[in-house]
Amino acid sequence: MTTLTGGCQCGAVRYAATGVGTDGYWCHCRMCQRAVGSVAAALVNVAKRDVTWTSGAPTYFMSSPFGRRGFCAACGTPLTFDYPDSAKMDLTVGSLDDPGAVQLTSHFGIETRVPGWIAPDDLPTTRCDDYAPLVARWAAVERPRA
Ligand SMILES: [Zn+2]
Ligand SMILES: [Zn+2]
Repeated sequence: MTTLTGGCQCGAVRYAATGVGTDGYWCHCRMCQRAVGSVAAALVNVAKRDVTWTSGAPTYFMSSPFGRRGFCAACGTPLTFDYPDSAKMDLTVGSLDDPGAVQLTSHFGIETRVPGWIAPDDLPTTRCDDYAPLVARWAAVERPRA
């Protein structure tokens, strides 16, 4: 367990995550790709109760019916991903003061992995549609047909 600090490019939004783990992952899903403007998002999952906004606060964009992206409204730096009703959240590894403090341990959303950009490795992989909590969230927002 460690303390991770970070923030956006302009410095308006800063955070500290205390007593958290350092297992990070690549998310290759299309929403993360767009949210960070890259072929994948490097994320570290932490408990919301362990995160303190030490300067400012993120602005949120709902990127799905149940997921949102936190970013700095002044400079646009992507900072977080979370489900508002969840006790956990992701911080973007690139917004950490020391991105090297987090280790890559897995890959998520590999059905939309972009070939050629991130070298293959032997780490565990998960498809979005094989991840039961996410499948259940999508099922819950699908309206029954009359
Ligand atoms: Zn900023
Ligand atoms: Zn994603």
